[in-house]
Amino acid sequence: MSTSTPVSSQPAAPPPSLPTALNIDALDRLLAPLNTEQLLRQVILDAFPGRTVVTTSFGAESAVLLALIAGIAPATPVVFLDTGYLFAQTLTYRDRLADHLGLTDVRTVVPDPDDLAREDPKGDLHKHDPDRCCRLRKDIPLENALGGFDVWISGRKRFHGGDRATLPRVEVDGRYLKVNPLADWSEAAIADAFANAGLPRHPLIDHGFTSIGCFPCTEPTGDGGYSRAGRWTGSDKTECGIHTPKVRRNLV
Ligand code: SF4
Repeated sequence: MSTSTPVSSQPAAPPPSLPTALNIDALDRLLAPLNTEQLLRQVILDAFPGRTVVTTSFGAESAVLLALIAGIAPATPVVFLDTGYLFAQTLTYRDRLADHLGLTDVRTVVPDPDDLAREDPKGDLHKHDPDRCCRLRKDIPLENALGGFDVWISGRKRFHGGDRATLPRVEVDGRYLKVNPLADWSEAAIADAFANAGLPRHPLIDHGFTSIGCFPCTEPTGDGGYSRAGRWTGSDKTECGIHTPKVRRNLV
């Protein structure tokens, strides 16, 4: 006996459209009553199934967002940028944490070797043009990796300060709806989440690192919190650029 999949006489509902810069404030207000888990469920499972990706550095705080994602939809694509300058401990932590949480689709993305051979043959671009180095090693590979998605979840928080101090929970960045579910979390809430869920910590925290990126551009601060003061010390650079709005970078 053959079986067939019933075909509904009703036309399929169109996928929800992405908000524009004009109606993002209305969406923000609509989502405001939802707690973090409800927001993630709404985005990943209900509104944009199969269209959502998470980016992570597997850094000092990453486990909190990833644990929430894993509890809702462990097959959610997780994109991780391996710039070629990461601490060995970060790569080990990526594997340990993904295994601990049961994440099944962690995608490690690397820079284009032709780009590096052409623009950074000596591997010292970070010393004299860190913005270009970040563009080659983070921004361009990320743009390629995110190409098939519409909704981008990031783990940034307002307490990081700088450009992040006024971070909304939802925003439009180029063609993406960007969701920042932990935007309003405090350092204490992050610490509580680690303790309550028994989440493994990045091994470099025990060595005084509070925000962990590429080794040439990261120093320990030893303050015990999640300060980004150890990133690009001695320069006025505070962000790698992947979260700088694309309109400000003339990329849209
Ligand atoms: S953080 Fe430093 S080493 Fe890493 S991509 Fe940016 S400039 Fe290059």
